[in-house]
Amino acid sequence: MSKKVLITGGAGFLGSHLCDRFINEGWKVIAMDNLITGNPNNIGHLFGNPDFKFIQHDVTDFIHVEGDLDLVLHFASPASPIDYLEMPIQTLKVGSLGTHKALGLAKAKGARFLLASTSEVYGDPLIHPQTEDYWGNVNPIGFRGVYDEAKRFAEAMTMGYHRYHGLETRIVRIFNTYGSRMRLNDGRALPAFMSQALRGEDITVFGDGSQTRSFTYVDDLVEGIYRLAMSDHAEPVNIGNPQEISILDFAKEIIELTGSDSKIIFKDLPKDDPKIRKPDISKAKSILNWEPKYPRHEGLKITLEYFKNMI
Ligand code: UDP
Repeated sequence: MSKKVLITGGAGFLGSHLCDRFINEGWKVIAMDNLITGNPNNIGHLFGNPDFKFIQHDVTDFIHVEGDLDLVLHFASPASPIDYLEMPIQTLKVGSLGTHKALGLAKAKGARFLLASTSEVYGDPLIHPQTEDYWGNVNPIGFRGVYDEAKRFAEAMTMGYHRYHGLETRIVRIFNTYGSRMRLNDGRALPAFMSQALRGEDITVFGDGSQTRSFTYVDDLVEGIYRLAMSDHAEPVNIGNPQEISILDFAKEIIELTGSDSKIIFKDLPKDDPKIRKPDISKAKSILNWEPKYPRHEGLKITLEYFKNMI
């Protein structure tokens, strides 16, 4: 009999790609989403599939699912700096109360639980690249604090259920990821730069653009998450592409890729914006035999087609 997975945030960018992956692996999939940042269009192609079900629900309230479950993937959360500004309380609630509800459901069903955590648990990191044993440098009262601290709490809660209740748990620390189904206006660098370049608008680089990020193509991320879900490793694992680039160079790369004549303009750097970020993926390599396959220029080319369609 096929296995059944519940994916919270299933109508979101990452959640919807995970729905596709698990359907393709022969699983029954329930996507749950309150649609505050998720979008039904992301899973529209799955409606009508007998192995797929969508439930509109806010996971900060008690979660009821009928029948058995083998796996719960907790991906519900606002996940961009603009979202944290606009929805600080929801962000805190879904990372704390929502994680508690999703863990409680997994425990009641005897299901395995996988938490979507984030490189934001490292804050503005003082070690580089970031290894899983680094505890981070987070400002609890900054505007990113609502996300960072909720995810840090979520990790602690997950380990609590693992240690106290013996629940089978997994924690993935996700680094900046891009691909189709990103929201055009979520304020993140890639959707901002691609939309601006395609519309011929100025490209808004924050600060002097010397801050770095390491961007992962969504198919690579999904592969890493799938492998982690199937593994027996309870400690957090970084999944990300270690190919690091400054934001200014990233903006130039997107201008070149799109052939746009947009100009770069500089705006104030948001407070607590991490200066550097790059995953150490030794653990994912050794435990999951995983490493990214898409160099940035390839992933960006595929993603550009999506943005062209959307614009
Ligand atoms: N960024 C930028 N211009 C934009 C949006 C973002 O220069 O229009 C910068 C942002 O300040 C950060 C980097 O790009 O240094 C990545 O931002 P994003 O919001 O994508 O992710 P995060 O900061 O959470 O890694």
